[in-house]
Amino acid sequence: MQTFYNLIGGEWVTASNGAVFENRNPAAPQEVLGLFPRLTREDTRRAIEAARAAFPSWAATPPPQRGAILFEASRLIDQRLENIAVTLTREEGKTLAEARAEVRRARDIFRYYAGEGWRMSGTVLPSNIQGELLYTRREPLGVISIITPWNFPVAIPAWKIAPALVYGNTVVFKPASLAPQSSLMLVEALVEAGLPPGVLNYVTGSGGEVGDEMVTHPEVNGVSFTGSYQVGVQVYQKAAPTMKRVQLEMGGKNALVILADADLNKAVQLAVRGGFGLTGQACTATSRVIVEERIADAFVTALCEAANNLVVGDGLDPRTEMGPAVSREQMETDLQYVRIGQSEGAKLLAGGDIAKQGGYFVQPTVFDHVEPEMRIAQEEIFGPIIAVIRAKNFDDAIEKTNAVSYGLVAGIVTNDLQKAITFAEQADVGVVKVNEPTTGLALQAPFGGFKCSSANTFKEQGQSAVEFYTRTKTVYLGYRT
Ligand code: NAP
Repeated sequence: MQTFYNLIGGEWVTASNGAVFENRNPAAPQEVLGLFPRLTREDTRRAIEAARAAFPSWAATPPPQRGAILFEASRLIDQRLENIAVTLTREEGKTLAEARAEVRRARDIFRYYAGEGWRMSGTVLPSNIQGELLYTRREPLGVISIITPWNFPVAIPAWKIAPALVYGNTVVFKPASLAPQSSLMLVEALVEAGLPPGVLNYVTGSGGEVGDEMVTHPEVNGVSFTGSYQVGVQVYQKAAPTMKRVQLEMGGKNALVILADADLNKAVQLAVRGGFGLTGQACTATSRVIVEERIADAFVTALCEAANNLVVGDGLDPRTEMGPAVSREQMETDLQYVRIGQSEGAKLLAGGDIAKQGGYFVQPTVFDHVEPEMRIAQEEIFGPIIAVIRAKNFDDAIEKTNAVSYGLVAGIVTNDLQKAITFAEQADVGVVKVNEPTTGLALQAPFGGFKCSSANTFKEQGQSAVEFYTRTKTVYLGYRT
């Protein structure tokens, strides 16, 4: 069995005490994909110290030179696209088509931020006095801890690591323990592209130990975390005493609103793609469908038919349309929520059970007559379960869209331009989609949630990333003394 290493200060290392954990295939859980180091706190501190030591010279490297390394890494990712995608599918479960799209996204993110090396700029301001140059300069923040979830184990590390590096920061990166292998392939591409030792450190192990050290260590200047609300809240609190800059992107309970004028086939397609695509394991997944009463029966019938027809299986099988849950725990959580929905009085109309034996396969599931206060309408499940909520009219649909603690994405399907624009104004979420699935983002556009989906501090992606990964200094330069 293959043993994988961590990267600390340019050296490929094991845990100092030799401890490891297994990485398994959710479509065939008996298959162990590899052993990864379970680092100690002391090992993690060494990674942070390595990042600190590498910072001055990386920060002083001209930005176009930093960008060139990212560009070369994107070329290597492109060359290895299929290999990375297969690794991703085997460790996380999504279909190969979904995995390929994710790796292409990571490649493009590296390309995009490579260009930032040529674009970084400050501002020159009008001065109050003669003989003074008044300007601002952007500087890297310092050492950044990057902590990521398992569901996009390639794209999310890419959209954090690429801007962190190009803007001159050094990084300690910890992937989720359920999917550490595909992100390692990004790290390898960066090392081969010429990244100097210590600039990027890759550490694996328990969130409560390795992750906690990355959040509390005084030499860390910023923490970029994507994951659950429950962990994110702890990260926020623990980073505060050392005044770290924190970016948190967390869960969602995203609604897709379907108005009575919508094309029914299109509405069903969007619900299926958003709710069952990626096995419902996306922060942007459609987990509530709010449908106008007048068309609800027809919509639910068509949605259930589509759910029942989906082919569930191993993501590497080209016939598969929906892969497994990532782990036994996630599969049990999904099934537990099915029982909760039934006990709350919602009507289970499709799925609700294990799809087949051999892996963590859950059936695409549809509940109808869900009431907004039910737990299946309020809590993030992170599985292929759609809760259909019936709305009296457009205003009622907006009210129900906003009646959750999360605020990540909301979608609407309609041909009524006035209602689409009103929805975009009134939905209390960071991203609105009109006639598109709730999943799917453009890498050049700002991304982040409202309410409990985010710390609401800094957006990610596109030009927004510069705000988190740099600090601004103001210089008053009197040149005529
Ligand atoms: P998670 O359990 O919160 O874990 C996320 C990361 O935090 C993992 O690397 C985890 O390490 C680490 N961690 C755990 N405990 C920690 C601690 N005490 N201190 C520091 N780090 C700690 O989330 P997940 O199950 O991996 O991912 C699913 C969640 O991510 C969902 O809620 C989903 O909505 C959210 N998500 C949000 C977005 C977004 O952009 N808004 C995107 C994707 C996913 P271990 O794996 O070792 O436990």
